[in-house]
Amino acid sequence: MTSGNTKSVAVVGGGFTGLSAAYELAQAGHTVTVYEAADEVGGLASAFDVGGERLDRFYHHWFTNDLAVMDLIEEIGMTDSVVINPTNTGMYYGNKFFKLSTPMDLLKFTALSFPDRIRLGLLTLKVRKIESWKQLENITAYDWLRSMAGQRVFDVVFKPLLEGKFGPYADKVSAVWMWNKLKLRGSSRGQAGEERLAYLTGGFVRLAERLADIVDEKGGRILLNAPVTEVRPDEDGRWQVTTPDGTETYDQVVATPALPLIGEMVKGWAEPGYVERLNGIDYLSNVCLVLELKRSLSETYWLNVNDPSFPFVAVIEHTNFERAETYGGSHIVYLSKYLPHTDAMYSMDADEALDFSLPYLKEMFPEFSEDWIHKHHLWRERWSQPVVGKAYGSKIPAEAGPRDGFWVCSMAQIYPEDRGTNYAIREGRRLGSELASRLEEAV
Ligand SMILES: Cc1cc2nc3c(=O)[nH]c(=O)nc-3n(C[C@H](O)[C@H](O)[C@H](O)COP(=O)(O)OP(=O)(O)OC[C@H]3O[C@@H](n4cnc5c(N)ncnc54)[C@H](O)[C@@H]3O)c2cc1C
Repeated sequence: MTSGNTKSVAVVGGGFTGLSAAYELAQAGHTVTVYEAADEVGGLASAFDVGGERLDRFYHHWFTNDLAVMDLIEEIGMTDSVVINPTNTGMYYGNKFFKLSTPMDLLKFTALSFPDRIRLGLLTLKVRKIESWKQLENITAYDWLRSMAGQRVFDVVFKPLLEGKFGPYADKVSAVWMWNKLKLRGSSRGQAGEERLAYLTGGFVRLAERLADIVDEKGGRILLNAPVTEVRPDEDGRWQVTTPDGTETYDQVVATPALPLIGEMVKGWAEPGYVERLNGIDYLSNVCLVLELKRSLSETYWLNVNDPSFPFVAVIEHTNFERAETYGGSHIVYLSKYLPHTDAMYSMDADEALDFSLPYLKEMFPEFSEDWIHKHHLWRERWSQPVVGKAYGSKIPAEAGPRDGFWVCSMAQIYPEDRGTNYAIREGRRLGSELASRLEEAV
């Protein structure tokens, strides 16, 4: 798999990280093969069909300051497909709805006393003043938020959110994770302080598909239904990549799936300590119940459910961002739940998850009736969210793998930021172009 002066590279994983790395390598003239276990590209940002349009399996949007993705979109001529809209954010707390889109909404947030509302507002300003996230590395988000905003703000706003997102790990989550979220959300705003978010018409998957097409046009290969079972060094210092269809040899390998999946690929030869390191970060799973409704549930795009007894942490009404007409008139609602993969809900089928969720949905939206539902879909993903605990930086495995020519570029290595397509693209492109330069120097 080496021709002329070019070197061959296998990229394992056809999500945004893998495709971005492959894009850079292919542009630089190297021979790239992307192995994707699924029957389509996109990974966590892959899609399904609703009313003649593609829809993300798991809800996706960008912040307006997601610059890596915006640069790429401009470079490949897809800017016209990006839609930026103001969005309504809200919170369900104590059986009540609160709008929380603008600073004015915050002042009217009666779940907190007036002094506590001011404390919550000031938190955003305090967060911006933190110069080095390293000072937060050894503090939990729980302790940090309590000290920054007080016990009541913590109990009403942050504790339920952290419990909803991280379940049994909530009290272990690092202050760095929370700081980053507050900073990001606080800076994706318009002039009146309203949140502004971005989406790609036709779903995030269109960007993934376009990257795959470019790789293909440049002579690369995108292999679907190609789960890599082993990556092994050979006697010549090259790499054998094995799938159920056979083995091929490459000069370099970039592995992008979740770290424990990479551990499975190398455990036959890598030192046990290395595999242990890949297994050292816990991941939560996610279950998304997607409803196609005849009617809209509310005017809110993103509703945080600040009640951990509910089986979902957020209700995202996607068609309060994109028009329902895009999806044949259906109003699209995601009910999202992060959970350990051992949780009973993780194994439910779509009907069971719907039956389980309906009473809660009715409690939240008393007008809602089951006959509003045209269709429902359930998507689940085992490796959805790395648990960013204290001193997380020291747990992240290096990008250079245990032998020369094996590279690890995975969601859990993104730090101090958290996973997201913007960072997948940033890191995939960076590694792809660094590798391309190295290979050019080597020939
Ligand atoms: C519920 C949810 C909501 C999200 N919302 C947003 C959002 O609003 N905005 C945003 O930017 N991001 C969001 N994200 C995060 C975003 O989807 C991810 O950060 C990003 O897609 C990760 O890309 P990746 O390529 O690193 O990983 P993945 O997408 O996980 O890609 C890894 C790929 O490797 C493949 N693979 C695994 N094992 C093998 C194997 N053995 N052989 C070959 N292939 C293999 C997998 O099939 C997968 O396609 C969300 C994620 C979730 C779960």
